[in-house]
Amino acid sequence: MRPSTRLVHCRDRRDPHRAVAPPLYQTATFRQPSLDEPGDYDYTRSGNPTRTLLEEQLAAVEGGSGACAFASGMAAISALLRLLTAGEEIVAGADLYGGTIRLLAQVAPRQGLAVRFVDATDVAAVEAALTPRTRLLLVETPGNPLLRIVDLAALAALAQARAALLAVDNSMLTGLQQRPLALGAHLVVSSTTKFLGGHSDGTGGVVVARDEALLRELAFYRNAEGNALPPFECWLLLRGLKTLPLRLERQVTTAGRLAARLAAHPAVDRVYYPGLATHEGLAVHRRQASADGAVVSFTTGDAERSRRLVEATRLFDLAVSFGSVASAISLPCRMSHASVPAELRERLAPPPDLVRLAIGIEAAEDLWEDLAQALEASAMLCSTPCRESA
Ligand code: PLP
Repeated sequence: MRPSTRLVHCRDRRDPHRAVAPPLYQTATFRQPSLDEPGDYDYTRSGNPTRTLLEEQLAAVEGGSGACAFASGMAAISALLRLLTAGEEIVAGADLYGGTIRLLAQVAPRQGLAVRFVDATDVAAVEAALTPRTRLLLVETPGNPLLRIVDLAALAALAQARAALLAVDNSMLTGLQQRPLALGAHLVVSSTTKFLGGHSDGTGGVVVARDEALLRELAFYRNAEGNALPPFECWLLLRGLKTLPLRLERQVTTAGRLAARLAAHPAVDRVYYPGLATHEGLAVHRRQASADGAVVSFTTGDAERSRRLVEATRLFDLAVSFGSVASAISLPCRMSHASVPAELRERLAPPPDLVRLAIGIEAAEDLWEDLAQALEASAMLCSTPCRESA
């Protein structure tokens, strides 16, 4: 079964009542058949049938051997750190979600883990950063928020040669548009709060592994630490997943159209979107992904104008996150990346005039009209002259 069919037909084969919609096991604990028989489930922190079903679906989306669902994307990324022991090292890409940078820069070192940030678009730079102590290589592609493209097959080969694990944050595209595990990555991590859930009504995260031994290790720590995704959130996510292929199709088409129109707008300085012919790393992206995602970033050349712009939209919500059915606009340096520690801001924080659009499923023309009026309003209020139209 192809993923789009499987996501709709998410029937629980173990359900004796053969419910068409997946049952919600909203329970903390399960009665044991007898003292000697614990049953399939005993306690929801350790396992829950609604979560099992969700994990089967998420593993199928990414083509992995199994999945572990966590309470948020950050909980899932934190779980990766549990695979390391003090004294080992992490090499991380430079175009990462701000919360991931905070975790790596401010939490991992307290566990005795050294972290090096490198421009992961440069394979030679990544190779130079790897040492015999490197255990984890963590990247996003397209990156967040500059949509930088990282060559996953090349990095997988490097990781393999150095006995390190390659983990890819695939929140931007999901396994329906890019399959890092098939390209050699060991682990895929995603914030299900984004496209997978799609409705901004719950946080969640998932790690999908190629190898069952890694999965067992992750499940052990998750049970020990108690950060699994609760049943109701699992159930909501199962519902959201049913429409993932439809939502993505619409969101990606609209994102491509808006990116092209933005690129031609005189008040826009530079557009970052992997669907544009001018995007750096396009050849690599075309090789490893089947679509371009629905996050579009652009600069205006003026931080104040960008600030006014994100406050001038009426339809786009001024909100963090992406992947929802409702479009959002944000200023990453003040929002999703405000948590980048001060000493790393110059290297890792996005430019102050960078605006990020998270495209939803609204009518494309309504979204464009909203953007066009906001671009016009912000340009009028600003003293810096707009770029000349070509
Ligand atoms: N990964 C990426 C690419 C993100 O953008 C985010 C959040 O914005 C996260 C991970 C963290 O996910 P969560 O907010 O669900 O903890």
